This record gives sequence, structure tokens and C-alpha cells, in this order.
Amino acid sequence: MLKISKYTVIHEVEDGVLLYNMKNGAQIFVNNEEEKLKGDLLSLKKKDCDNIENDIFKKAFCVPDDIDEVQEVMASYYKQMFDPTNLSFIIMPNNICNFRCKYCYQEHGKKVISDENIDKFIKAIKNYYYDHGLKDFYIEWFGGEPFISFDIIKKVTDNLNSFFYGKNVRYHYGATTNGSLFSKDQIEYLLNNQFDFFQITIDGDKETHNSNRPLSDGRPTWNIIFDNLKTFNSFKEFDFHISIRVNYNNETFAGINELFDAIKDNLDSRFTVFFHTIGKWGGENDEALDVIDYSIEPYTTVMLMEEAIKKGIEPLTNYNYYNPFKRVCYAGLPYHFTLGSDGKLRKCNEEDEELDKFNVVGTIENERIEFNLYKWSRFVLPNGKIELENKCKECINLPVCFAQNCPKSRIINGNNRCPNDFIVTSEVLMNKYNYMIKSIRRK
Ligand code: SF4
Ligand code: SF4
Repeated sequence: MLKISKYTVIHEVEDGVLLYNMKNGAQIFVNNEEEKLKGDLLSLKKKDCDNIENDIFKKAFCVPDDIDEVQEVMASYYKQMFDPTNLSFIIMPNNICNFRCKYCYQEHGKKVISDENIDKFIKAIKNYYYDHGLKDFYIEWFGGEPFISFDIIKKVTDNLNSFFYGKNVRYHYGATTNGSLFSKDQIEYLLNNQFDFFQITIDGDKETHNSNRPLSDGRPTWNIIFDNLKTFNSFKEFDFHISIRVNYNNETFAGINELFDAIKDNLDSRFTVFFHTIGKWGGENDEALDVIDYSIEPYTTVMLMEEAIKKGIEPLTNYNYYNPFKRVCYAGLPYHFTLGSDGKLRKCNEEDEELDKFNVVGTIENERIEFNLYKWSRFVLPNGKIELENKCKECINLPVCFAQNCPKSRIINGNNRCPNDFIVTSEVLMNKYNYMIKSIRRK
């Protein structure tokens, strides 16, 4: 006997029905013209799974009727997440930046991670490999602006690449960078040395971006960044992904097509876009920032996604957010740590004296990754405890969010704030479908 999965959603639109399941990530669009599936669709709508003939429908949207799906979902979390052979880091080599973005929340001092801490980190990774084994290893460089410290990045990369070479480990790297400091040789070095992901922010058209993200001496940055993207694009033999992040507010909309046209005319499908509202993130200009109202943010993001798709540009990061596990913040991942410029191991990448009381969970002081179990548990257990909140047990988004959307704010506030954009899941997945159809037709 079967029952409909509690994570199945049936969303009807004019020309068909979108079916999806938040637990297994199945997403299927059934066009009104699909005569063969009409009977099965009707059975699914009536929650009558035993009368469904199509095997894919049954597997994707139904479950045996004696299953406790919440328990199954939580078991999937522990099985997938608590794998010590899957280790990742954010490293902040410095807190220095050559930009002065209007909305920046970071303090820019002159902190640079010491050679001693870098050596300890490299030794800690090697020791970890011998102690626990590794299947997957990833570093994301962050800052400040990480490429101000290119020499540090190169030292770590060269060292670890030669250590991992010939071992059965998938090792790769990425960076969140303002994208302004690359030479062609540096780009070539990175692509030749296992760097396969970059997040680079361009806030729309030249005028809007240059006013949001000037250099520290006030000069504009749009052309500098875009020229570097074109250089990346010229390396056709490498498979990498650059997510162009657009931090937006009301001022961004009018000129957004200028950015889309530049992407479409100059960059290939390795470049995607990611829309995120500008927020009052704790910087000194917060009061003066024009931000989009929290309650309408999800809808404005969907609008921008639609505009990008019309131009054939993929808002990949935005719609990936609705797949299983994708809303677990990296601070919630058990075997993920942030190495600060002070050599401490944090979970959330924010550095702040107050936060550090619970956010600093460990150290590499002894050339090993050592952490405090209780502090760690507050980040890595769903809900930070052995029990979920009742609202999460009932929630259809549990397999995506696991009450791990922002462990930092949960620890501070004592409860989980739900992401505001699950109300547009169906619209986002329709966008994804529309993009797929458009790109199939283009081929
Ligand atoms: S925090 Fe909110 S969205 Fe996340 S699982 Fe709990 S109830 Fe659902
Ligand atoms: S814990 Fe919260 S503030 Fe920290 S990185 Fe994650 S989402 Fe951001």
C-alpha cells in the first residue's frame, strides 16, 4: 500500500501541472497535452497512489504507507552530513579590501593570516588525511579580498595539490572575490590548479554598480571586473562555474538589462547569475541604504530571474536553493570550518568579539583540527539540539532546510527564523523549467 509523500507538491498552471517533491528533489512538469498521464495525475491529486500506473510517478511522489517520513528525512541528514571524509573550509587570508562597497559589513584592518598559521593549517590537513581519510576536500577563499593575498593562496594550493596528487581524493577550490585583482597568468594558474568555482559580484549596470562598489579611492570597478570575466571566458578548455552575484535594491531594476546583454554577448554558460537583495548587514552606511521590504523580496527575486531567463542566462544558484539540503548554511555542516586571519576555527564566517564566544569552536594550534564538541553541536545538530521544533517536524521544507538555515541567528535568538522565500518555491521551479525548455530549443 502506498500513500502520497508529505513532501509532494502539486502546482497547477495554465498549460500543465508542476509536480515536485522536497525530499528527493524530483521535479516534473506535465503538459496538458500529455494524454497518457491524465489518469495518473488525477489519482495523485486524489492521493490515491495505489492506482497510479507510471513507475516514475510512484517512486517520486509516493511512499509506503507505514513510513514515518520525518524520521526518514532526519536519518538522511545524519547519513549525508556526518561524513568526516568530506571536509571543507572557508579561509579568510586577510581582512583587507581594495573596494569600499556601500553595504559592506566588515571591518577592514590590516590583518593577514600568519605564515605560522598557514603552515599549521597545511599540516593539520595532512594529519587529518592520515587520521580520518578524505574523499572530498574543498577550500573556498574569502576575505576581505582574498586575492590581495595571492601568495598565500598559491602556497596552500601548491602544497596541498602535491600532497593530494595520486591519492584517491577529490580536491578542489573556489573563491568569493570582488574579481578585480586578477592578471591573465593568475587566472591561468588558478584554472590549472583545481579552482572550479568563483562568486563575483556585479550589481547591475555600470552606473548602479560603480556607485555601490567603488575602489577605495572612489574609482569605478565595473569594467575592471567584466574584463576579468572575459579573460576567464577565453579559457575554453576549463570546466568552471562563475556565479555572478547581483546584490540588488529598487535602483537596480531600471538598468539590469545592460548587465544581462553584456553577459549574453560576452560570456558562455559557465557564467550564471545569482540575485540577492541588499540588506542592512551591520555596516556603517546601514541607515542610508535603500533596501527592499523583507516581505516582497521573494517576488522581486523571481521577477529578476524571469528577466534573466528571457535573455537565456541561468539563475542557477537561485533555483538550486530549493533542492534537498541546499538551505543548510555551511556553518551547519559538521565538517566545515572557517579559518580566520587570526588562525581560529569558526563555524559562521562572521568575526566579532561577542559572536566569537560561541562561534569559535576549535583550533589548529596543535597542527590538528581540534574542536569543542558542545560548541560544535550547537551549529551542526538540526535545530542545534537533539529535538526539532514542532513547526519543523510539520514543515514541508524540512528536507531542504533541516532547521539549519542560519545557526548563528538561531543561537542568538533561541529559535529558527524560516527563510522568507519558500512561499515562491513553485514559481522558482517553474522558472527553472522555462529555462530548461528555452535552452533545449536553442540547441
Ligand atoms: S526553520 Fe522554518 S522552513 Fe526551516 S524546517 Fe523549520 S519550519 Fe521549516
Ligand atoms: S550562520 Fe547565518 S550569518 Fe553565519 S554564514 Fe550562516 S547564514 Fe550567514
